[in-house]
Amino acid sequence: MQRVLKQITILGSTGSIGLSTLDVIARHPDLYQVFALTANISVEKLAEQIIAFRPRYAVLRDAKSAELLEQRLSNTDSDTELLVGDGALQQVAADAQVDYVMAAIVGGAGLLPTLAAVKAGKRVLLANKEALVMSGELFMQAASDSGAELLPIDSEHNAIFQCLPAAYQSGLSAPGVRRIVLTGSGGPFRDLPLAALAGVTPEQACAHPNWSMGQKISVDSATMMNKGLELIEACWLFNASYKQIEILIHRQSVIHSMVEYYDGSVLAQMGNPDMRTPIAYGLGWPDRIDSGVSSLDLVQVAQLDFEALDRARFPCVKLAEQAIAEGGTVTTALNAANEVAVAAFLKRRISFPAIAEIVNEVLQHYQGRQADSIAHILEQDQLVRELALRQIEQH
Ligand code: NAD
Ligand code: MG
Repeated sequence: MQRVLKQITILGSTGSIGLSTLDVIARHPDLYQVFALTANISVEKLAEQIIAFRPRYAVLRDAKSAELLEQRLSNTDSDTELLVGDGALQQVAADAQVDYVMAAIVGGAGLLPTLAAVKAGKRVLLANKEALVMSGELFMQAASDSGAELLPIDSEHNAIFQCLPAAYQSGLSAPGVRRIVLTGSGGPFRDLPLAALAGVTPEQACAHPNWSMGQKISVDSATMMNKGLELIEACWLFNASYKQIEILIHRQSVIHSMVEYYDGSVLAQMGNPDMRTPIAYGLGWPDRIDSGVSSLDLVQVAQLDFEALDRARFPCVKLAEQAIAEGGTVTTALNAANEVAVAAFLKRRISFPAIAEIVNEVLQHYQGRQADSIAHILEQDQLVRELALRQIEQH
């Protein structure tokens, strides 16, 4: 009997997660078909993907890029329909023909298209953690209202998901969970003398010891704001308090996170640091499919190290804890200030330690509100971005 192919939209197909997703999909032409691909401005990469995967739609953000793409495809046999703009992103995320949506746009720009997929009740493979950090409660409510299946793709959350029984949805105490251990490598600057942090460059910050990723998440890993965002992400995904989550430094990135139960059992999910494993898990769930990732060679790894988090070196973690403790739109503000500060660091306008300073200063000035609608969240996001830009000018 011929199987019906699952139709997949990949939001952010030209990025690091997008490329890994297409790598896994290409291994299973009997299971999946690409329905839509989307990119910001990477015309050439998107053109190559269109030729290889022949999606029904491709979306670019602006008309100029779409024009270039049209020219690039003009002498090929591509019949992919090209669409432009934010509305088109939401359209291809929510289209009735789509089964699964990979949410892999970076930052707040991913919120509305990801939410469109959630509201339309899709299986959402969630890589875009910023969307959840911005709008946690409304996002989870929308998933529960529509029956969308949220499959965490962030490796830590995918690991936790794999170590939890289905009953966690009603809270962690029902299935007997004592705590969640969120592991992080500590990034490229974990051993650098603190005084040297002021002089590090974007290139050094983006050279992660274990993972190859987009620029923004690479810088977040270097400041460990990434772990802070992941803490907030875990609170929402697993209906947990931030006090139930411990952050642990684990240099080798072989254990991707752990769940400890009341009886003292600790379940860990392990594997090579390659995002194709959580992506394949999200695509195949509840089955397992080949991801192309090689077997974990523990003899080669030889050693698994663990250290407590150095809070003086990584002040962003504390800022994230404070934000989730305060709740409401404070996590929206944390995310917005961080995005603006990271972009300024990448443009060499501020130093590396100034990222945490800017976020801290913005949060000091920011009065959190109840996060009562997405329009309100977007308005607060915009307001904080302006506040952060002003703070950078004065810095
Ligand atoms: P990336 O920068 O490599 O790719 C981002 C993608 O989003 C690109 O396709 C880009 O064209 C698109 N994009 C960027 N700005 C856009 C905008 N304004 N409008 C529409 N599209 C836009 O990023 P990445 O490393 O693939 O990360 C994507 C998301 O996944 C992030 O939220 C990140 O935190 C999360 N994530 C990534 C990894 C990883 O290993 N790379 C791991 C865990 C979670
Ligand atoms: Mg992660």
